[in-house]
Amino acid sequence: MHCRTCGAALNPKAEICVSCGVRPLNGTNFYQECGAPTKENQEICTSCGSRLLNVNQGYVFGSSADLVYPA
Ligand SMILES: [Zn+2]
Ligand SMILES: [Zn+2]
Repeated sequence: MHCRTCGAALNPKAEICVSCGVRPLNGTNFYQECGAPTKENQEICTSCGSRLLNVNQGYVFGSSADLVYPA
């Protein structure tokens, strides 16, 4: 896998990127599977067509305060 912050190739079980010190999925700059550059709100990789895993999804689900819509 690749670090989503710096794009470094990592062991799939790596919890922290040894290159930049950030959790591998805790970023939006690169796709973890193929290492292609990605943008913050991108949902699929424009290089290989795979769906991006994004910690932001967990973040959104975990922070209901951000998802309160007016009735
Ligand atoms: Zn990194
Ligand atoms: Zn890709």
